[in-house]
Amino acid sequence: MHDAAEGIRTKQLTSMSRKSVGRLPDTQKKRVSEMASMPGLDFLWGRFDTNAFGVDLAGNYDHRGLFPEIARINHDCRPSCYTRYSSRLLTMEAIAYRDIKQGEELSIAYTPLNLQTEDRQDIIQRWGFNCTCQLCSDPALSASSDRNRQRIAGIITEANGPQSREREVLARLSEEMKELVEAEELESLAGTYVSGVDHPRVEKARSVIGKLKASIKGRKE
Ligand SMILES: [Zn+2]
Repeated sequence: MHDAAEGIRTKQLTSMSRKSVGRLPDTQKKRVSEMASMPGLDFLWGRFDTNAFGVDLAGNYDHRGLFPEIARINHDCRPSCYTRYSSRLLTMEAIAYRDIKQGEELSIAYTPLNLQTEDRQDIIQRWGFNCTCQLCSDPALSASSDRNRQRIAGIITEANGPQSREREVLARLSEEMKELVEAEELESLAGTYVSGVDHPRVEKARSVIGKLKASIKGRKE
């Protein structure tokens, strides 16, 4: 819906993106202009809106940053890398969390990874495409993956509940989470995944997974 407030906001964002890009050196300006954009948007704002990541500045996630190299990495629902942002250096890195074969394309996730196929596709369509990764292209594989990811989301909810204060409950949840994360090749969930989508939930998932990981570590020692 395009109401007056939305129109003003779009105008402001368009003007801000022009100003920001206008201050960049020519080589950087060229890299921005070469980025992909969703159709129907202003030339610069379109590139910004399509490629920018949500970033944290002094604990406030209401900021966005453009990282041309990272933005070129395609999405996969079982990515080989996760992104790590440094609020101190204002940099974004792609970190591999498994071995990557020579010549294999790097991938990151544009969506929170504990979502099921349909919900991931809904978010992905924001970028104007349907995900055709190996997982999404195989109905049997995506059905079993959906069950696992639904359970991962359930564990995150349970781990945030009052019962998770009991050590045995947390230990059981940790063990189950560890198995599901391994089965789904979602080790990147334990990384510092931050996207423009739903920061508080991603942050919450991250802290719960940190807690679960700490618990698993504690049990092994
Ligand atoms: Zn996919």
